[in-house]
Amino acid sequence: MAVTKYPLIIFTIAYLTRTAFTFPSSLQEDPAVTKLRTYLRFRSAHPDPDSGYEQAIPWLEQYAEELGLEFNFLDLDEPNRFAVWMTWRGSDPSLKSVLLNSHMDVVAAEPDKWEYHPFEAYKDAEGNIFGRGASDMKSATIAELEAIRKLKTSGFQPLRTIHLTVMPDEELGGVRGMIPFVKTDEFKNLNVGINIDEGFPIDSENMVHITYAEKSIWQFNITARGAAGHASTLPEYTAGQRLQVVIDKLLAYRESELQKLQNPDVTVDQLTSLNLVRLGGGIGDNTIPNEVWASFDMRIWLLPNWNFTDVENMILNITEEARLGSTPNEVTLNFILKSMEAGRTTPDDSNVWWTVVQDSCREMNITCPPNVLSAATDGRYVRSMDIPVFGICPFPNTPNTAHQDNEFINEANFLKGIERYATLIQKLAVLPGNLYP
Ligand SMILES: [Zn+2]
Repeated sequence: MAVTKYPLIIFTIAYLTRTAFTFPSSLQEDPAVTKLRTYLRFRSAHPDPDSGYEQAIPWLEQYAEELGLEFNFLDLDEPNRFAVWMTWRGSDPSLKSVLLNSHMDVVAAEPDKWEYHPFEAYKDAEGNIFGRGASDMKSATIAELEAIRKLKTSGFQPLRTIHLTVMPDEELGGVRGMIPFVKTDEFKNLNVGINIDEGFPIDSENMVHITYAEKSIWQFNITARGAAGHASTLPEYTAGQRLQVVIDKLLAYRESELQKLQNPDVTVDQLTSLNLVRLGGGIGDNTIPNEVWASFDMRIWLLPNWNFTDVENMILNITEEARLGSTPNEVTLNFILKSMEAGRTTPDDSNVWWTVVQDSCREMNITCPPNVLSAATDGRYVRSMDIPVFGICPFPNTPNTAHQDNEFINEANFLKGIERYATLIQKLAVLPGNLYP
């Protein structure tokens, strides 16, 4: 017992000292910022987010009650599979709704690499709040809720119903949350017309990227086997020679994509990235190994004449060419991740939701160019249900520190993001008519 008590006492003293030190600024702290800092302290971090969920879910329920929103929890049968959403009913509930989607989970953090503890939500003298999820994306959940508070306080009544989903495992790819949730009757009954989902912050005062599509992530491992033996010999068809073919050909493809940037009309949005991310094998410096392997990460952007089958055939053909006269199983391909969602939401004036988003941007004096997200979010599963999805991060002057050590958001920029969400939500929620019957 004594062994565990001492560190706790030391931690408590350190915590109280720091709290006392920041006391003057927290006296004047905006209640929205206090909400964010409380939420950041819940440890909903992978690989063990359970205790964080246990704190976050009742806290969000209480928050919904405070704002006069309906609160729903749907158990998706297996442990830790669930969906949480809050609802503000519109005056015409028959119209398609506005969905604001975010996630309560965060990636792991190593406290010893951070300047301040990642679950302390420490705020420095400049108002920078440090914490895992400060950028990705607990700040967005709180900003959406506070935007709703603002609209409610102003007396605004939405025409369309507004839902806020807060999902459990976006960082794991949605297997415990959005993937099963979009297939339920409960999701269907949300009657979603537009989903405003996760975007990415940029360090700009007056520009916000609107993501309308995501590249499809494929990750795969290729293992080559071949003649082994003493490193002083020269056998034919070693594992290394076979893997060399794989690496040469895949990196040649990478180079051909890179070359496309010579054309000034081409942007990285329109390219497929491919990178060698891991290499392994061998048993000693004087031994030719009978097995070596390489792993690759690919973010695919399909073109009109290039589909998933073409991509797969390219990889299979390279694997085949690397066999160098051997029996077929000498070079094997294994997919680690193979995302086949390739939906895109139209980012032009033929899409009325796009025009509403652009109207909001004009009103706020910001430019909002369309953009492709290279990372994957839960939004792709909503998009796969033929629902338009735009990824938006409203916070100005915010460098992207998602998944990094010392992830942070500045409180002034966080508060400006609330204003921007309020403008956008208001415009989306009063759009009349049955647009997507
Ligand atoms: Zn995220």
